[in-house]
Amino acid sequence: MKSHDWRRQGRCRFEPFALFFPPDGETGEQRDMRERRAKKVCAACPVIDQCGEYALTRPERYGIWGGMTPDDRRIERRRRRETERKAA
Ligand code: SF4
Repeated sequence: MKSHDWRRQGRCRFEPFALFFPPDGETGEQRDMRERRAKKVCAACPVIDQCGEYALTRPERYGIWGGMTPDDRRIERRRRRETERKAA
């Protein structure tokens, strides 16, 4: 399998792009609802781990990847940095 072949197995390929990437003018309430719906799709996705790792190891600032929002990814990156620092 090529390194990005997992993308072809993502559940999001059956969903509207706007469910995973915010449309212009989205309110906070709309964002919360959209993110909850997108996370449900990700939770049933067979490549959630690959997708999440892909986004965490790149400067992906937008969208839902691997069931994580941009804020979720910032928190996870920070947690990993702190774990690495403690292990050093
Ligand atoms: S984890 Fe979510 S964003 Fe990633 S491929 Fe699966 S459905 Fe798409």
